[in-house]
Amino acid sequence: MKTHWINGEFVESASRETFPVINPATEEVVDHVARGHATDVDRAVDAAYTAQRDWKFVPGIEKAERMHEFARRLRDRKEEIAILLTREGGKPLIENQDEVEWVAACFDYYAEIGRDYKGKVIAPVFRHQLNFTVKEPYGVVACIVPWNYPLLLMSWKVAAAVASGNTVVIKPSEYTPLSTLALAEMFEAFPRGVVNIIAGFGPEAGEALVKHPRVSKIAFTGGVDSGRKIAVLAAEQLKKLSLELSGNDPLIVCDDVDLDVAVRGAVWACYLNMGQVCTSAERIYVFQSVAGKFIERFVDFTKSLRIGNPLGPDVDLGPMISQAQRKKVEVKLERALQAGARLLEGGKIPPHLKQGFYYEPTIITDVNHTMEIMRSETFGPIAPIMPVKGIEEAVKLADDSDYGLGASIYTNNMEYALYAMENVRAGTFWINDPLTDNDAGPFGGMRLSGLNRELGAEGLDNFRDVKHVHLDYKVEAKSYWYPYKWR
Ligand code: NAD
Repeated sequence: MKTHWINGEFVESASRETFPVINPATEEVVDHVARGHATDVDRAVDAAYTAQRDWKFVPGIEKAERMHEFARRLRDRKEEIAILLTREGGKPLIENQDEVEWVAACFDYYAEIGRDYKGKVIAPVFRHQLNFTVKEPYGVVACIVPWNYPLLLMSWKVAAAVASGNTVVIKPSEYTPLSTLALAEMFEAFPRGVVNIIAGFGPEAGEALVKHPRVSKIAFTGGVDSGRKIAVLAAEQLKKLSLELSGNDPLIVCDDVDLDVAVRGAVWACYLNMGQVCTSAERIYVFQSVAGKFIERFVDFTKSLRIGNPLGPDVDLGPMISQAQRKKVEVKLERALQAGARLLEGGKIPPHLKQGFYYEPTIITDVNHTMEIMRSETFGPIAPIMPVKGIEEAVKLADDSDYGLGASIYTNNMEYALYAMENVRAGTFWINDPLTDNDAGPFGGMRLSGLNRELGAEGLDNFRDVKHVHLDYKVEAKSYWYPYKWR
């Protein structure tokens, strides 16, 4: 059984309640975990609040050394953590090995930019004055994380938050708390209480954290519905908030590219982690002139993907996270087919994989924008492909969405690429290389897809408030004080 990690110690829930973590590839229980409620959240927030008083003043160079030390310890145990991530989350091991490395790299990145600058000097309005800003931590930050990239999405928050002098309480997803709890020993690189972990469910531990009066900032990644609920709760106390929410990303394929490359890129963008990526390509628009060839090769290449035990070897796709998530995908496909879409490939549980939450990568066509599948997030392995007349139609449809997380295009035509970039509202726009992240580049969504940014310098400022300092080095009475000299 695994427990919360508070103030440098493992502690059970006050209620002694636990919940099971299920391996989505086998449906077996991986372990049981303490189920947190408001009392446990209180303990964690108190520890973080106390630790923050000193952590705030720890010099940047020391913070950086501790962050690099965390990254070193994590790299030393990369394989063990990647296996645990695979057992609780179901992504192929090779993807989890990458995830662990990206987490270490994110801590290294924020270790350095966190000690780089802390504000700016402003031109004063009068003589012998100096104006400057100081960027300050908010205090205790609640970091609420989903299950699809449990450690990576934790790192985007925690690394930037602690580098800025905040302390944190992490609430991992109820599906994947084990890998985060396994980092406790590595978090010992920080003073006690700087990092705390509370396991539990959204409406219990999650909401208690959001409502806690000593939590100053909430950094949330998850679905739009949960994000909306959290935003309403946070508004009552006017808490600072950043939201990384759902997507329904388009991918445009023009007629001037190597189709084999575009097919491989698009297949990966649709099925990476079984389409359970917030920036998965969920709508493909392909120029009519090459649509036939594109679809044929897309189907052929999809058929060649190897689905099975995510611990490998030689596997491209693992299971989905849960029975519930798979059911959502099945229902969504059914509704699309009822609305007139045509199934080209997949659309069922693989016959040889009845145990575990597997699902075949699925391709549909004959879709249009009145269909739910083109308008709301699927978060599963369905690729709807829609032929379009040319770039204008592709861009118009790509932008016809309530979401705005990411968007991609395959083209060698600079005019097409930049026209699409300017006219599709999305937090990230990828040209010929979908879905890649860069620690130094901001990540986040427009419209329903979110609020604020993580990663990059923007992601650091997401965890820093601004104080304007006005200094006059000459102590003298001002002409504009009482008594007034009326003009
Ligand atoms: P979710 O919203 O159900 O849960 C996310 C986290 O929030 C979990 O830890 C959960 O316990 C917690 N939570 C849920 N309700 C809560 C509440 N009322 N108060 C406080 N905490 C609460 O999402 P999920 O199913 O874990 O993840 C899938 C969703 O996340 C998808 O919609 C996906 O697009 C989105 N996502 C977005 C990004 C991004 O960066 N924009 C990245 C990954 C996933």
